[in-house]
Amino acid sequence: MASSSSTNNSTGTHTTAWDKSSLPDQIETFDDYKRLYALSVDDPNQFWKMAAQRLDWYQFPTKIKNTEFDCRTKRGVEIKWFEDGLINVCYNCIDRHIEKDPKAAEKTAIIFEPDTPTETHHRITYGELLLSVKKFANVLKKHGIKKGDRVTIYMPMVVETCIALLACARIGAIHSVVFGGFSANSVAERISDCESSIVITSDFGVRGGKCIPLKSKIDQAVAMPQCTTVKTVLVFQRNYGLENIKDDCSGQRSSLEWTDGRDFWVHEELKAVDDNCPPEPMNAEDPLFILYTSGSTGKPKGILHTTGGYLTYVSLTFKYVFAYEPGEVYMCTADVGWITGHSYVVYGPLSNQAITVVFEGIPTYPDVSRCWNIVDKHKINIFYTAPTAIRSLMAHNDSFVTRTSRQSLRLLGTVGEPINPEAWRWYHEVVGGGRCSIVDTWWQTETGGFMITPIPNLWGLEGGSATLPFFGIQTQIVDKESHLPLDPPSKGELCIRDSWPGQARSLYRNHKRFVEVYFEPYPGYYFSGDGCEIKENGYHWITGRVDDVLVISGHNIGTAEVESALVQHSGVSEAAVVGYPDRVKNQGMYCFVTLKDNVEPVEELRKDLTKTVRDIIGAHVFPDIIHFAPNLPKTRSGKIMRRILRKIVEPDIHNLGDTSTLNDPAVVDELIKTSPRTK
Ligand code: ATP
Ligand code: MG
Repeated sequence: MASSSSTNNSTGTHTTAWDKSSLPDQIETFDDYKRLYALSVDDPNQFWKMAAQRLDWYQFPTKIKNTEFDCRTKRGVEIKWFEDGLINVCYNCIDRHIEKDPKAAEKTAIIFEPDTPTETHHRITYGELLLSVKKFANVLKKHGIKKGDRVTIYMPMVVETCIALLACARIGAIHSVVFGGFSANSVAERISDCESSIVITSDFGVRGGKCIPLKSKIDQAVAMPQCTTVKTVLVFQRNYGLENIKDDCSGQRSSLEWTDGRDFWVHEELKAVDDNCPPEPMNAEDPLFILYTSGSTGKPKGILHTTGGYLTYVSLTFKYVFAYEPGEVYMCTADVGWITGHSYVVYGPLSNQAITVVFEGIPTYPDVSRCWNIVDKHKINIFYTAPTAIRSLMAHNDSFVTRTSRQSLRLLGTVGEPINPEAWRWYHEVVGGGRCSIVDTWWQTETGGFMITPIPNLWGLEGGSATLPFFGIQTQIVDKESHLPLDPPSKGELCIRDSWPGQARSLYRNHKRFVEVYFEPYPGYYFSGDGCEIKENGYHWITGRVDDVLVISGHNIGTAEVESALVQHSGVSEAAVVGYPDRVKNQGMYCFVTLKDNVEPVEELRKDLTKTVRDIIGAHVFPDIIHFAPNLPKTRSGKIMRRILRKIVEPDIHNLGDTSTLNDPAVVDELIKTSPRTK
């Protein structure tokens, strides 16, 4: 394959002096950051050309950036990067490492850590991964899948899931991964939205010691009237340590329903295919995948990402933000069913020839030491997770953490929600022993990769701030009322001024909605939907979704701020704050509070919490209702669904909206039963 001549970064050596014709291997100083940031904004064509040179292209693009953000122009919103380039994502994640250095075939690509710690883990080398991907790609081809076809993937968090993604990328099929926890109905909707003719699944998955039937969910989904396109279902067998699983998984397998001519075991299909499968040269703007958002704020949107710009962006952000060095072991706890899994379990790490851990289980099984035991077991250097996991782990005794070594850790990361300073400190001090820097990465399914994030050790951190924008990202605070752009320091709605290569190009077959949601609210800008404050030092503080700001007696109060104050109280594990209509004050403040293990929900505690909030934020902030709730409604990726809480307290319980992405619908019923607003 023709490679761009100036690619020089695959050796992993530090190149402190930057020769201006290619990007440095790592960002070493704050001055380097500032210099490169200025270049990325002043001359995006030059900056992103150098970033694209980190990849191997069949045909290096002559055109770099061709984008229009303004919905009012004749052209309208259109985003194209590297538009005449030809590239294959799978080739860049596997083959090229081995072609450059045959020894890479023997090096570990993926460490698989199964749900039950006593099951044996596996190490998959780049050579083994390549062979598995080629063979599985041939199975897809045998079943008629070709470039541009949509493939729905409904799998547990296992290596085979990564193989399925990479196999699609290899032959140019568009994958649509649906998280394995979703109901048959949610899967059916997502299959029909993108009209997949094929579904890849597993007989079952195992999570937290429980057997999750996947194939039978697909049977139900495909039988639903809206699901008319599926011709083939490919079924992987989960083969590890079944004897340890409490539920009778093997019984499940023997009782699976099977539709001849539609359902195929992958292990049988693999016997009949060739080892050889050349990667398909793809146009940089050909679609790579569709992924539905988590649905925290409404019905999930089918986000469309393309090939060349996406890989350029996730590859560079992974390298710089984790300051990844060859041989380091990296673990991200996100499921591949979310964007974090796509960008930072699979494509970012593998395109950098990293060692990435695929963890099948959950952080609390068999106990809350699990993550730290895994860190010790595989000598993990970089650990990336979500605030929801951190908060659930810190609700327990610190000894679950401190009894482990964690000496291998170099860097910690977080994503998904604002991290309250209390959780940040616990992560930093207890988990990281005060030694490890933390990257608090703000980004979205729509952005493809990190947008606002520290780069380790280049500038000081403030717990709860994602700090500064990544290269090429021009943030802009806009005032909600006047729609005017505000110069920092300022607080308002977070927009982005110009395009970056990793951004979504559209919603699948619905460009109109794409423009409406992201480009019409503030013409000329990409609108994130999040609130943000930029302080004097330029640091960005995400204040939560813009819908989550309360206006009480003329004061604007970010719910994230109040939540963060509540969880500073030693008895509180988690809090969610929403407003309800109040004739006098405009809105009243309703706080759902989850207490830590062994803390009693007594009246005295209510007073104490009110005092905590007023002491921390100010006397103008007064929680009107404090509702002790053992559980909060969350999306399957662990985000609190405040829009449902808002409906409960309004109260408007007959219009809860789309609840398909809820993790446990029973939680909502319980809150409705116990809320003083619904009585
Ligand atoms: P939907 O768009 O369907 O409502 P969603 O926004 O939850 O779903 P994602 O794309 O998974 O779907 O989440 C992106 C959002 O997560 C961001 O807009 C932001 O609100 C939040 N977020 C992510 N990372 C951070 C972070 N580091 N700090 C604060 N908030 C974050
Ligand atoms: Mg969103």
